[in-house]
Amino acid sequence: MEALRETYEGLFVAKPRISTSVEVPLSRESKKILNRAVDEADRLAHKHVGPEHLLLAMFAESEQIRAVLEKFGVTGAKVESYLKSDVSPEASSAVPSVRWRPFLRAGIGYDLHRLEAGRKLIIGGIEVPFDKGPVGHSDGDVLAHAICDALLGAAGLGDIGTHFPDTDPKWKGANSLKFLEHARELIAAKGLQISNIDAVVIAERPKLGPHFCAMREALAKALAIQPDQINLKAKTNEGVDAIGCGEAIAAHVVATIFG
Ligand code: MG
Repeated sequence: MEALRETYEGLFVAKPRISTSVEVPLSRESKKILNRAVDEADRLAHKHVGPEHLLLAMFAESEQIRAVLEKFGVTGAKVESYLKSDVSPEASSAVPSVRWRPFLRAGIGYDLHRLEAGRKLIIGGIEVPFDKGPVGHSDGDVLAHAICDALLGAAGLGDIGTHFPDTDPKWKGANSLKFLEHARELIAAKGLQISNIDAVVIAERPKLGPHFCAMREALAKALAIQPDQINLKAKTNEGVDAIGCGEAIAAHVVATIFG
């Protein structure tokens, strides 16, 4: 606990109340946590706000932070019991020393679908007007599938086939954004957050650039992130192979997550 106290010494402050009028670069969530920490100190009749109050506030306000801290064996009950006890930090094993060690994980995703006439072309959750569309069990959204695989890979959660087998009738014609929503939930349950996604979609036709803005919005919504965390690029295959002949569409994706 002493190590934690030293690490966060600068946070021992005399109960500031963070409001929207304070001009500091804090996110809304950070302000919410700081205010909650002040409330926790008030509730316990403590004069100052320390890291333990911040821990309590984070437990209360952020499911993702709670999941990470619990991995270190820290629970809200242990922190509160420490705060209420007179036991010296050296003698107490209630709250182990916590050090935040953010780490970045990368995942790669790839997908390809054959294109056939008369099918809807869904890419990145958006219908793109074209005379051909992907052959697939779900809606055949090549970009959503590659993103899903990249995210699952980064989180060590297998691949899209593990979670949404194409033998399951439940996923026949499914909107692939549902796969992304599920991947997001699995990632959050592990206490991880999506950092960024970079993708290349390879198709000879149609031109995809004009649809990227709508795709990024749709994908970001499904993943509960901001569109600027997603970068999309379009390539042709220079007229060669199946993609170049307009018989297939493919996507490559790299995603990073942190926790
Ligand atoms: Mg696919």
